[in-house]
Order: sequence, then structure tokens, then C-alpha cells
Amino acid sequence: MRIEEVQSTTKKQRVATHTHIKGLGLKEDGTAAPLGAGFVGQEQAREAAGLVVDMIRGKKMAGRALLMAGAPGTGKTALALGIAQELGSKVPFCPMVGSEVYSSEVKKTEVLMENFRRAIGLRIKENKEVYEGEVTELTPEETESTTGGYGKAVSHVIIGLKTVKGVKQLKLDPAIYDSLLKEKVLVGDVIYVEANSGAVKRVGRCDAYATEFDLEAEEYVPLPKGEVHKKKEIVQDVTLHDLDSANARPQGGQDILSMMGQMMKPKKTEITEKLRGEINKVVNRYIDTGVAELVPGVLFIDEVHMLDIECFTYLNRALESSLAPIVVLATNRGICNIRGTDMPSPHGVPVDLLDRLVIIRTLPYTPPEMVQILAIRAQVEGIAVDEDSLAHLGEIGDRTSLRHAVQLLTPASIMAKTNGRDAIAKADLEEVAAIFHDAKASAKLLADQAEKYISQ
Ligand code: ATP
Repeated sequence: MRIEEVQSTTKKQRVATHTHIKGLGLKEDGTAAPLGAGFVGQEQAREAAGLVVDMIRGKKMAGRALLMAGAPGTGKTALALGIAQELGSKVPFCPMVGSEVYSSEVKKTEVLMENFRRAIGLRIKENKEVYEGEVTELTPEETESTTGGYGKAVSHVIIGLKTVKGVKQLKLDPAIYDSLLKEKVLVGDVIYVEANSGAVKRVGRCDAYATEFDLEAEEYVPLPKGEVHKKKEIVQDVTLHDLDSANARPQGGQDILSMMGQMMKPKKTEITEKLRGEINKVVNRYIDTGVAELVPGVLFIDEVHMLDIECFTYLNRALESSLAPIVVLATNRGICNIRGTDMPSPHGVPVDLLDRLVIIRTLPYTPPEMVQILAIRAQVEGIAVDEDSLAHLGEIGDRTSLRHAVQLLTPASIMAKTNGRDAIAKADLEEVAAIFHDAKASAKLLADQAEKYISQ
């Protein structure tokens, strides 16, 4: 597999609600400002998390893990993401929930292993021969289709690439035209095309166009220097799981191993222990030869009390491995039985694992803090809401949960539009709050009307 074809397997939806969190928002001296990097309040926990980041950087967290204890909706996921971002913008962050390990098809430890590998990054640096420049022309040349269809086929594509030094016109294969379309390349974009593989990468929009009106946030890049045809260091960030799954695909034939001159085509779609072993070998060789470096990321396991004793044994062992990410566990339980046993333990975590943990507590938010978080979320989601309504939503959050209040934003904005308003008003909130129940209200309703429901 050509490395440029490895697709990311990041769980994007899971982090979508936390996009405003850009770090822990700590000052130089390690103290937390009331609002920083998108983070509101929770100062003590953020400062503690900052110390953990220092420990990770100082390689003092090996064999240990972090546990965050606090009620649901007190920002545990947000804190774990903040830690990952403090470690670097390309550091992988893999969130999972303890109960995910229970599947009738896959072994529990297999699920854990997969998530561990999703949280370990590999930065590969390669010097490649490329054609790079600002696109000055992009013309597909068509011929009559040879396959008997009605359409026309692209026989080749003419592309003009400009650098500070000059312009070069290239005649490229139709397969590259597909890649250009996939990357949504337009005239005025800076791109490079790899000479060997034909892989296309859009770097950004040329800054000569920086004043043009753009709806989407664009990344503007300068006109490349030097020649169009040159050697360039290409950096690519993948996770071990990206490599596993790309190599397990049945299409095969293009695995990272063959890229390195080996003849191996895994036939199974399943990721096997053997395949992982082979990938590890190649990865280690990459690291030894200085082509790649490991980027340990953050594995976040929410509701860790849902794991059973077998999983905890696995975790204990995995933490010792030389290929381990930073493990952040979260729970809202006090003393409860360790799943799969009748032994009670703090947070439902066995004592031998507890021994390895650094524990941070998260506290409930005050109403003004909730309002501030809601305001940030509304802004990120492009939802207009006036101050009065925000305060009202803060009250709803205080009564129910922050998560519930955040979730009401989108339906309330739809309701506002239906009612002919651009911005959410208090009436819209009241309307949606009456339709959608939060967990507490729903539980109360079930208890009050128990006789109307079937129970065992
Ligand atoms: P937990 O993991 O403790 O349940 P969480 O981090 O998943 O909490 P949610 O309850 O999902 O938090 O929070 C709802 C929203 O509020 C999310 O978008 C989250 O990013 C955001 N949020 C939570 N805490 C903070 C905070 N301290 N500052 C800014 N945003 C926050």
C-alpha cells in the first residue's frame, strides 16, 4: 500500500461536539484562566491536567494512567481532548466507552487492542520527487468513450503549475484527474503531485487570492519557491490502526510492506495478530532508519467501571508495553463491584490498576459557567441566540445537565426558523424543552406512570 493512500480511521463524530476545545488554556505559570483555549472554569482539574502534560513530556507517565472522577457532563472528555491537544496538534485522540468492548463477534481484548492502536500515531517523513505549484490551468482533454458507453472519457489532463521561478505545463494521466477532482482542486490552489505514485495533495489556496470573498475558512499558502519539479520532504501522520485496516483490505497489493520492497499481500479483511506483528516490524524498521517517529496519543476510556476484570488485566499489561499511548480513564462511580467479580473497589477499578493511576476530580459547573459554555457552542455551530435566551438555557442546563442544554441548541434553532425568527428566543427554548425530555425528567415520568409501562 502506498502510504499516501492510507485513510484516516479517526472517530470524528465522537469529538464533533468538542471542536471548540483547543487545549487546556493554561497560563505560562501553569495556572488556569477562567476562560482559555475554549475551556471554561474547571480550573483545578485543568491545572492538574497541565501537570500531567508536563509529566508526559518528561516521560514520567510510562506505565501509569490518569483517572478522571466526576459527575456526567463535567467536561471529562473535553479535558482528555485538551491534554491531547497540548501534546501537539497532530497527536491522535481516541475516545471510547467501556461498554464498547461487549460485542458478540469480537473479543473484548481485541476491541481494546484496536483502540490502543488508534491512539498511537506514526509520523512518516519522506523525501519525494514532486511537481509543486499554483494551478494556473486545469483542462481535461476528452475522447469518445472506448468502452461503448455514451459518455466521453478523459484521455489526459493538462495542468499548469506556477512557482516563483516559472510555469510548467504537464500532461497527466486520467487517474490523476480523478484525484484532482477528489481533492477539489481549482485554478489558484497550490498543489503537489507525487512523481512516482501520481498522488495529489492540495496544500491550500495561493495567498494571491487571500482577499477574495470566501465563505469557508481557507488556508492560504505562499506561491512555492524553487522549481516546479523538485524533491520535497513530505510528512504524513497516520495511526497504527490506519495502517492495520489499510493493509487488511481485501483489494490488497498496495500495502505499506510492499512499498518497502516486500512481497506480502494480506488476503483477509480481518486484522489478525499476525498482520499487526508484521506492521509492527515494518514500523520499527521505519523508526530505526529515521524515516518515521512514533507519536503516542491519548486513549480516552469513558465509563471505565463498565470494563470487567479481564479487560483490566489486559489494560495493566498494555500499559507496560513500549508501544503504549497515554491512557485516560473516566468514571462517575464511587465504590462499586468490579464487573465480573463480587469484589467492591473504588470506582469499580481493581486496586492493582488504581495503584498506577493519577486521579483528577471534576466538579459541577456553576450556572454562569454553563451559560459561557453554551455561548461558545452556539457560536461554533453558527446558531444565533440572544442573551436572555442563553441565560434561560443555562437554567435548563442547571436543572437537567449541560449536555442536555447543548443538545437543545440545534432543535431550538430549527424551531426559531419555523417561528420566523433568525435568532433563538426564550419561547423557542420553552417549546423544545417541553418536547424533549432530559434523562432525569424521563426517569421521573417512568416512575410516576409505572403502571402504564410493561415491566418484568
Ligand atoms: P463528561 O465526559 O464528564 O460526561 P463531556 O466532556 O463529555 O463530559 P459534555 O457533557 O458532553 O462534556 O459537555 C457538553 C458540551 O460542553 C461539549 O460540547 C463539551 O465540549 C462542552 N464542555 C464541557 N465542559 C466544558 C468546559 N469546561 N469548557 C468548555 N466547554 C465544555
